[in-house]
Amino acid sequence: MLLRSLTKHVKDQNWFAVALDFFIVVAGILIAFQITNWNEARQLKVSELDYLQRLHSDIVELTERRSRYTLSRPIMSETLKDIAQFLNGDSKDLSSAKAQIRIIFPEDGRNERAESSLCNMIDWSAAMTIPPSDLPTALELLSAGRVNDISSEDVRTRLLSFSQEIARSNGLISIVQSQTIQPSDKFPDLFTIRYEERYDTGGLPRPKYTCNYAAMKENAAFLNMLSKNNINFAQYTFSGVLPASEKLDELHASVDKVLGIDHTVEETK
Ligand SMILES: [Zn+2]
Repeated sequence: MLLRSLTKHVKDQNWFAVALDFFIVVAGILIAFQITNWNEARQLKVSELDYLQRLHSDIVELTERRSRYTLSRPIMSETLKDIAQFLNGDSKDLSSAKAQIRIIFPEDGRNERAESSLCNMIDWSAAMTIPPSDLPTALELLSAGRVNDISSEDVRTRLLSFSQEIARSNGLISIVQSQTIQPSDKFPDLFTIRYEERYDTGGLPRPKYTCNYAAMKENAAFLNMLSKNNINFAQYTFSGVLPASEKLDELHASVDKVLGIDHTVEETK
């Protein structure tokens, strides 16, 4: 119809009407194009918001799951240092180590229980489990190559930075684990370990440990092994667990900023 009207206007040499017809056609195309663009942008915004909200839920959950590691590992490392100082004759008793144990296991109020945990701590110098690190939404974005769907450059950068740190940290923990010795396996004569019908707060049975500290002090090979384990445990804690948790906190702060979430307000309510 527009074409017929255009032909008629050309025949009539009505150039104003011809120009008007052209304008209507061009404007129509441009408006249709713009509407498509708006729709695409709106859909992208909706999926970005959905991704960010899911990513935030994943981050909150992972932070909670990692908190056990982030809070306890530095104290465990400090306790191991105190025990080693005592066994090497650099401090006169284990009071400082016992005080640390009570922070990790507040339920160990009774002295006997704290004594067992203190001795058990020497074996924990070899317990360097890899903390949880999965963010399902981030994995989905990365594997689908859709990281660029997130418009915030800061969130994108921190997400990649966290993923790289996790890869580095897990690699380091695996190496450190392979260089660490289980003390009670290597030096069985220095420990007495008995099964005890007592369960910790996590519902897991805990063995009752007794250490022969006097014999440990005299055993140079044991003291060397403990020093190496302690160095490994400090590396595991301060170069493995904590830097990845810090990167997670930075990512969390960045996502909070984009979503306008302020946890300090929530906490003070
Ligand atoms: Zn948050």
